[in-house]
Amino acid sequence: MSQPPVIVWFRNDLRVGDNRALAAAVATGAPIVALYILDDECPGRWRMGGASRWWLHMSLAALAKDIAERGNRLLLLRGQAEKVLIGLTQERKAAAVFCSRAYEPHAVALESRLKAHFDSAGIAFKRYGGALLREPEDIRTKSGDVYKVYTPFWRALRQGLVVPAPKPAPRNIPATSRIPKGLALEELDLLPLKPDWAGGLRDAWTPGEAGANARLNSFLKNAMADYADLRNRPDIEGTSRLSPHLHFGEITPGMCWHRARQVAAHMHGADKGYETFLKELVWREFSYTLLFHWNDLPDKPFRSEFMHFGWKKNAQDLKSWQNGLTGFPIVDAGMRELWQTGYMHNRVRMIVASFLIKDLLIPWQEGEAWFWDTLVDADLANNAASWQWVAGSGADAAPYFRIFNPVRQGETFDPKGVYVRRFCPELANLPDEYIHAPWSAPPPVLRSAGVILGKTYPKPLVDHDNARARALAAYEDMRAAIANRNAGASGVS
Ligand code: FAD
Repeated sequence: MSQPPVIVWFRNDLRVGDNRALAAAVATGAPIVALYILDDECPGRWRMGGASRWWLHMSLAALAKDIAERGNRLLLLRGQAEKVLIGLTQERKAAAVFCSRAYEPHAVALESRLKAHFDSAGIAFKRYGGALLREPEDIRTKSGDVYKVYTPFWRALRQGLVVPAPKPAPRNIPATSRIPKGLALEELDLLPLKPDWAGGLRDAWTPGEAGANARLNSFLKNAMADYADLRNRPDIEGTSRLSPHLHFGEITPGMCWHRARQVAAHMHGADKGYETFLKELVWREFSYTLLFHWNDLPDKPFRSEFMHFGWKKNAQDLKSWQNGLTGFPIVDAGMRELWQTGYMHNRVRMIVASFLIKDLLIPWQEGEAWFWDTLVDADLANNAASWQWVAGSGADAAPYFRIFNPVRQGETFDPKGVYVRRFCPELANLPDEYIHAPWSAPPPVLRSAGVILGKTYPKPLVDHDNARARALAAYEDMRAAIANRNAGASGVS
């Protein structure tokens, strides 16, 4: 009788290199069923958005090729992961299921249901790390609490950090002849067809493990040394753009850490960039830790006082923001970069989020949902934690009253308007001094640049100074309402 297979259940670990679950399965010597399940039910309202689905299609294609080159085949199935996995295990009489851990609340709950099932069925269910540098259970304050502030979290993580050396990809992934046919990749319906809006994404990205490694190499060689100084500049390619690759697990943070350290050791002056890069990777760890311990993070304010904030829902303003038509060039450029490429520079993400939340008083959850659908790196932990950070409602968040001035931000971080001109070409001929505030340009300047405000480019949706005052008043109202409630509760009049 043939040896029972081990199922390697691929999730957000779409790689063959440095994949502990795959390496452990290969080490058993058993034949392997390499499986991916598209499950749109388990994540509930956080089912993957459009841009992520495009990425997933491309990434699965790359993984399937890497697996085929190693003598096996990627089996694609669709449905509730729990049912599909249990069904396949029974049907194939599998000896074990190996996978990488995931940290979203729905994924954690799914893993514990599967563990209970497989334990009672006498089938090994083994989960491996790799998606994070440290497991979220491991980093605690001296009193055993979860860190809610980034800097001590960073110090604690750094101090005890031992990242296992990345595991090379197995040369061979032994197959079994009894793998069901499964679905063709196209049958997962992940690509946009009518209309095909993914042209900009195709130009900008190479999903898959090889693309991830190429991106890391290029960053280490060309940008890491200046990363600390240039990472806030959207007009310069000064960051790694590894976020979608990290999200889909095409590369591990451990691999990034090891490689960055090696390069920094041999590159004069790269220490500062290396350290700053690690700190950003650890913001990712911090977000994951928050989500792991506070499951409501994507839906509810971490600081409950923000439940009483006087948001103003406005469908028209939301649409203008989504379409990059607010009349503030740096905001519009960011929103158009997002639409065209599935990505937005971090500094600009902060600017557009501040504009939505504070200038327009629209709830942060609306922005979070739009990002979820349009980002190729849409990530439940990073997205939720970052939106809450800007909103002032998160753990260790920016204080609410720090309100970005979109004109000043544009002038500081895109001083020549290179980024704005790229994504708002209708403003391309404006002189630098007006590029971030076209409404302040004298009429002859606008005329000669071919800009007609309200026609070729929108007039500003709000007056920023008034909007700022309105946001601060709303914040004070929230505080006053809470103080009144507390006074009422304690009987003080
Ligand atoms: P780099 O500067 O090269 O950083 C390296 C890696 O560190 C990134 O790839 C990312 O994995 C991690 N990282 C960097 N900054 C952060 C951060 N502030 N928080 C958490 N991790 C970070 N990031 C996502 O991956 N998915 C999201 O859905 C997401 N939504 C965001 C929403 C808002 C409103 C804001 C302000 C930020 C959001 N971020 C999100 C964080 C950050 O903007 C992106 O991770 C970063 O821009 C990715 O570009 P990069 O890979 O070039 O980053």
